[in-house]
Amino acid sequence: MKRGRKVKILATLGPASSSEEMIRKLYDAGADVFRINMSHASHDVMRDLVRRIRTVEKKAGRPIGILGDLQGPKLRVGAFEDDAVELEPGQTFTLDGVAKPGDKTRVYLPHPEILEAVQPGHRLLIDDGRLALIAEKADGRSIVTKVVSGTKISSRKGVSLPDTTLGVGALTEKDRKDLDAILKEEIDWVALSFIQRPDDLAEVRKIARGRVGLLSKIEKPQAVERIDEIIELSDAIMVARGDLGVEVPLEAVPGIQKQITRAARRAGKPVVVATQMLESMITAPVPTRAEVSDVATAVFEGADAVMLSAESAAGDYPVEAVATMSRIAEKVERDMNYPGIINAQRPEAEATGSDAISAAARQIAQTLKLSAIVCYTASGTTGLRASRERPSTPVIALSPVIETARRLALVWGLHCVVTDDASDLDDMVDRACRIAFREEFARPGDRVIITAGVPLRTPGATNMLRIAYIGSDGMSGI
Ligand code: PGA
Ligand code: MN
Repeated sequence: MKRGRKVKILATLGPASSSEEMIRKLYDAGADVFRINMSHASHDVMRDLVRRIRTVEKKAGRPIGILGDLQGPKLRVGAFEDDAVELEPGQTFTLDGVAKPGDKTRVYLPHPEILEAVQPGHRLLIDDGRLALIAEKADGRSIVTKVVSGTKISSRKGVSLPDTTLGVGALTEKDRKDLDAILKEEIDWVALSFIQRPDDLAEVRKIARGRVGLLSKIEKPQAVERIDEIIELSDAIMVARGDLGVEVPLEAVPGIQKQITRAARRAGKPVVVATQMLESMITAPVPTRAEVSDVATAVFEGADAVMLSAESAAGDYPVEAVATMSRIAEKVERDMNYPGIINAQRPEAEATGSDAISAAARQIAQTLKLSAIVCYTASGTTGLRASRERPSTPVIALSPVIETARRLALVWGLHCVVTDDASDLDDMVDRACRIAFREEFARPGDRVIITAGVPLRTPGATNMLRIAYIGSDGMSGI
């Protein structure tokens, strides 16, 4: 099946979308990659979802990407005696290391490293910022705060610390176990939550040993500050606006989104824009005008993918949410202003064979009005560089490696197809033409441009460009 858009859709699975039937419906409506959120999914649930996605993939005959999202160091307060208490602005409230139920004056904070790291003057934002505290005294064992705004706090609510750089790494004990389980399954991407610094990627990189791509979720101001280094060490990036919008002022999020999408595009790393994109569709079959505009903005920015969270995982209208997102993307990509905006953001080709050939292929395809760019990519690198050019011509990424094709399902504009290695140059041309015809990108007499590295399967050796005609039967190239 051929999608009518370049931007990809990442749909989170959950209670509203865990059956094989629903996964198939979401795929048909436009989902290209599925996210399994390890904050909520047990290992058994995760494995069942992977199995069902792979069944849908087999029946659909198209590679589908799967992203396993690690919870990361999401901090929470302990429990309260009566589940919730009411506080008054200006009052004192203490977080301490005493494992006893909380009351109006104090609560247990089961994270000793935070008790140590917080300094007077730092903000503590509870429950997505609904309650704001400011630290007045901190002696390493407890934090005495003053209530700045908000009144309610209840058991196990999340705590954000926008002013504090934590000593904790990005992987908790739970994350390590989840990562081990993920690496045993056919999962293509792992998302790392709440990373703060480039170093946070090193441990995961070592454990993963290339079996999954690493996607860094940018949801801490500390990560925004070092975004270029983090992008360099990551395989993909997410603008995780949910938690980011708690940690930085909400009005700073759109600018940061632009900064991150541009930096990622410059580096040629896939970038996902996430959270609350069609939030009202959790309970309504149509989105708000503002939400439509938000999805459109991400598409105009040239993001690789846009994501649905609760809309597809737990809402009343998961299929409608995916279909709506898909329709918005298709419309934007046909807008008369779209090519100009996308072209204006194109980064210069870097001085590599792969970049030079990808740039040339885009230009030639446009000048000669070719039907498709067909790029052979074993590791995925050439596919990524072809996408970085953001060509208006469709790109077919051919790979002998199913894992590569699945991983590239997240990447802007790539229609991925798994095919055997070509035996020689003629076979390569035939194969490219046959697939372009079969996948309905080109008809007999049309021309395509093929990029490849010869000899085949030599990573980083893209060195060939070839224009070919689709033969009269669609079965060969000339
Ligand atoms: P989450 O991440 O849905 O796992 O919290 C996305 C975000 O914070 O925006
Ligand atoms: Mn988050």
